[in-house]
Amino acid sequence: MSTAVLTVDLGAIVSNWRDLDARTDCETAACVKADGYGLGVVEVARALAGAGARHFFVAVAEEGVLLRKALGPAPRISVFSGHMAGDTELIRGAGLVPVLNSVDQMLRHVESLPGHSFGIQLDTGMNRLGMEGAEWAAVRDIALPQNPTLVMSHLACADAPDHEMNARQLARFHEMTDGLDVPRSLSATGGILLGPEYHFDLTRPGIGLYGGIPFVDARPVVRLDVPVIQVRDVSPGETVGYANTWTARSPSRIATISAGYADGVIRAMGAKATLHAGSSSVPVVGRISMDLIGVDVTGLATEPDSLQLIGRHQSIDTVAGFADTLGYEILTSLGARYRREYTR
Ligand SMILES: *Cc1c(COP(=O)(O)O)cnc(C)c1O
Repeated sequence: MSTAVLTVDLGAIVSNWRDLDARTDCETAACVKADGYGLGVVEVARALAGAGARHFFVAVAEEGVLLRKALGPAPRISVFSGHMAGDTELIRGAGLVPVLNSVDQMLRHVESLPGHSFGIQLDTGMNRLGMEGAEWAAVRDIALPQNPTLVMSHLACADAPDHEMNARQLARFHEMTDGLDVPRSLSATGGILLGPEYHFDLTRPGIGLYGGIPFVDARPVVRLDVPVIQVRDVSPGETVGYANTWTARSPSRIATISAGYADGVIRAMGAKATLHAGSSSVPVVGRISMDLIGVDVTGLATEPDSLQLIGRHQSIDTVAGFADTLGYEILTSLGARYRREYTR
């Protein structure tokens, strides 16, 4: 077997969802945009629906169409990008709920799909998506009589509990929504952990389901095992890989493994990255190539058949640290070339 194996523990995803759900008194949805954070939206969403999740969020309408096919008619599928030009047939056909972000989207929606469910996104300071105060004031009298399913906003700094932005956005959300007879949602994973005043009627965790920080109590979800193609002896003074960036100082055993930046092993991890053989850590040497990586296995007693990049000894956040990025980017970069295995 020459391709790397990405093992996704669906049981851990379900357990993380239940754990986050147990931290609130409100409904817990699931954010499965970007192919379920790179792990396979069909398998992830079916597992969560089986565990009782009834509300899913995706980024764009096309993702919602795929998800509807996987889940059937019952769950609610909301779309963060709202009702964009050209989306009307997808929204109607798949019964999606666009979260409307602007007056333009509101007009497009009520004109093209009168009576069709919608939510509303408000901007409380992140300046990314959603209506600002003046826009909301201008359309709320049109929107509210049509019974929006949800009014939501998104926190910019929820992974930093002490950041003053959290309280500021919370206060703004109250100003914009208090007194409305519409279910409210403010929090993703980070917001759930900020405490009950951030929970409202519905939370929308993503990264925590998949085992990433800021949900430090999460069960790990992903394992990535990469087969060794070849092992060679390298003498002092010899180099490994493109541009000769690594030179052996002593007699070394170098394993070449079958994955590279085309598989999401980000090239910028460079020489900071390590893998594991059992519980022993082994360092990457030389540059990460498109499909291959050199690893110094001199210290191992036996020659390994495969090395582990992500697993019990290295979380997605540890691996993210090698490249100064986030667990989110590691997950969504994991390539389509892997053989994916799902466990429960
Ligand atoms: C991605 C996203 C979420 C989920 O965020 P996590 O940090 O992954 O939990 C929730 N709401 C919105 C608007 C998002 O874009």
